[in-house]
This record gives sequence, structure tokens and C-alpha cells, in this order.
Amino acid sequence: MLPEPGRQASRLAHPPQRATMMRMHTAYIGMGANLPSHAGSPEATLARAAVQLESLGQVRHRSSLYSTEPIGFAQQPHFLNTVVALETDHSPRALLDALQAIEVLFGRDRSDGVDNGPRTLDLDILLFDDLIVHEPGLEIPHPRLAERAFVLVPLSEVAPHAIDPQTQKSIGLLLRDLHSSAMSHGGAVVPIHGRFWRAGR
Ligand code: AMP
Repeated sequence: MLPEPGRQASRLAHPPQRATMMRMHTAYIGMGANLPSHAGSPEATLARAAVQLESLGQVRHRSSLYSTEPIGFAQQPHFLNTVVALETDHSPRALLDALQAIEVLFGRDRSDGVDNGPRTLDLDILLFDDLIVHEPGLEIPHPRLAERAFVLVPLSEVAPHAIDPQTQKSIGLLLRDLHSSAMSHGGAVVPIHGRFWRAGR
């Protein structure tokens, strides 16, 4: 198909500046914490970590904060979970590396080796534009996205119409599917009024 004449003209009138062209991406980041860090309570950690995320781009939206029941390893405190929309020029791999560096900054220690165990800060890439990535150490969409109400509830608050590129289902639909499926194994997800978190919104 031929380009629309008006569009073509405006492209020629304003040629892109190569040096300043930067491809921006939208990444949805899942955040969780259930142990205090040097920043304070899990809520204070999440609030400070969200500020830290600004070093990787612009935080466009934040969901509410949710108190959630631990899944898998039950003998641990409830988690606080939330999701932010981050506009970034980082590649998926560079973003993962940077998120892991922020986890370490807030005292994340993986040495106990307990899956789903307690943590000062957990940062996951849930979605990255409409990319599907299957690489060692990096899966996008996040592999357990559709199974976890503590991810889908806050994600559907900030991006109900975002599409999971693997199933082509919206986040809102994935959440409805989860609620009505046998995989929905309880795991209460309760919105809470977080003083620090709200102050940063
Ligand atoms: P976790 O214990 O939940 O912090 O698991 C982190 C591990 O999952 C790291 O070794 C990451 O390399 C890996 N991983 C794979 N895909 C992702 C993703 N989309 N976001 C964050 N971590 C991921």
C-alpha cells in the first residue's frame, strides 16, 4: 500500500534526528517484599525501590499496594505486592540486570535457596512491550504471570487491556480466567492503605 500523502510529507519535513532517536519500551514490573530492609518496613522498601526505578526510565503508573498470602512456602510473613509501569530505553536483559542490582541494593540475599521464600525485595519483569523472550535466566512474559493473583490483581489495575503476547488474552481476561479456574488456590490479595506508598504516587 502507498503511504498516505500527508504523512509522507510530514515525515520529510521533519526528518528523524538519528543521534537522538531512542527506542522507548513499556515494561510492567512486579514488586514484592515481606522482610524489612535497611530502608525500613516492606512498604518503605517498595516505596524507596520505586524511586530507584526512576534511574531506569520513567515510572508512569503505580498500582495500589496489596497484602498477599505467601504461596508455596507458607511459614513466612504475608507479602506486600504491587506493579508499576516503567517506560525505559533499556533492553530486556539490561533491565533484568538493573532490577537485580536494585534487589541487592535493598539487601536481597538468594543464598538461602528457598523457592518462594521470604525476601527484602523481589522485582520481576512481567511484560515488556509485546515481546516474547525465552533465554537462559530470562522469560518474558513472566512464566507464572497467569497463575498468580498477587501479580494479576495489581497488573489489571494499571493495565487491564495489556495483552499477554503468548495467549493473546488481556490481563483482565487472564484474571477472570484465574478466578474461575481450579488453579485459583486461595491466596487472598487485599488492597491496603500504605502511607509511604501513597505519598509517592
Ligand atoms: P526470583 O527468586 O523470583 O527472584 O527469581 C529470579 C530468577 O528468575 C532470576 O534468576 C532470573 O534470572 C529469573 N527470571 C526469569 N525470567 C524473569 C523475569 N521475567 N523477571 C525476573 N526474573 C526472571
